[in-house]
Amino acid sequence: MIGKNDIIEKAYECGFGDIGFTTADPFDSQRELLEERQKEYAFANQMGLDLIAGTDPKQILPDAKTIIVLMEIYFNEAFPSFMEKHFGRCYLDDDRMTKDGLAKRIKAFRSFLIENGIQSKVPFNLPHRLAAARSGLGTFGKNCLFYSNKVVCQGSWVLPIVFVVNQEFSPDEPTLRVGCPDWCKNSCISACPTGALKGPRKIDPARCISYLSYYGQGITPMELREPMGMWVYGCDHCQNVCPRNAPWLARELPVNKKVAAMLDDFKLVKLLHMDKAHFNNKVFPHMFYMSDQDLWRWKMNVARAMGNSRDEKFIPDLLTAFHNVNDEKVLGMIAWAMGRIGGPKARKALNDLLPGRDGLVREEILLALEKS
Ligand code: SF4
Ligand code: SF4
Repeated sequence: MIGKNDIIEKAYECGFGDIGFTTADPFDSQRELLEERQKEYAFANQMGLDLIAGTDPKQILPDAKTIIVLMEIYFNEAFPSFMEKHFGRCYLDDDRMTKDGLAKRIKAFRSFLIENGIQSKVPFNLPHRLAAARSGLGTFGKNCLFYSNKVVCQGSWVLPIVFVVNQEFSPDEPTLRVGCPDWCKNSCISACPTGALKGPRKIDPARCISYLSYYGQGITPMELREPMGMWVYGCDHCQNVCPRNAPWLARELPVNKKVAAMLDDFKLVKLLHMDKAHFNNKVFPHMFYMSDQDLWRWKMNVARAMGNSRDEKFIPDLLTAFHNVNDEKVLGMIAWAMGRIGGPKARKALNDLLPGRDGLVREEILLALEKS
């Protein structure tokens, strides 16, 4: 029978940054919160994630005795700055589809457990940040993120991975608290461009750029287009402004070669014109919250980012896309982007596009002309 130390040793051997243990007791406070805010978290159910069931480890593994939490660092290497400006860092080297990195290490850890007679489940619906804090691995930020006690200079660039197991191990001392210094006057809350952070540890997911970029319905509301800025998929703004992350952001890190090699496939112009083949071969293996049925949302986000760049160099590509795309949400956003870029070239293009247009697209062109 293996002990806690053997498991800790294996976790480090598998490349994880930290490890903690907690009981398999239910997460009652989280259950209450989810029940109160069912509407806001309805999107998780639509994705097949039963978050309420995830608050009881015994619904995941009936003879659950312990939760083991492994700390994965997703920002150990530097990403090209272009990628960091448009895509959330946690999605850049995400191998949940390609299964060539983290997935292999999780498998190796689980195989070690099973070889030693321990059954495990790795659920996605268990409140992983709460489990990590209950295991003593870190504290909460007022921005709703989790900050490590040990790795990435105690920053938030970590992903806790939970293993519900059927063997009892002594739990670690919980660190269930907010770890923000008193002198930080809630920089994250005031910096959130869309007002998604309603207060300390209170987020409205439906206003968060991350959520909007992959699940937003319809054309992005006018009042959110400028605040969503240059983000195409995800958002790291409340982590970038956080003083708790400053020490890690100041580090010189080795370049992530895998992500550097993706750069060309993720250029804004490529994404604006991409077909299903490009999406499925180059984009989806890394960023998979939308299927090829949702190319419109990718293109709408890219057009909005191009508009917010205020760079005239994008006008010819926006025009080409206008003639090649059918979705009115994308066409409307292209018109908005031209209006946001403004200037005589954009105005001429908008005037040329107007004849024969009706409905939402016509409305957006007219509004864009007023702005340009
Ligand atoms: S990820 Fe972006 S939009 Fe979401 S809460 Fe943080 S700053 Fe606001
Ligand atoms: S910005 Fe300030 S309040 Fe927000 S998470 Fe960081 S330290 Fe906490």
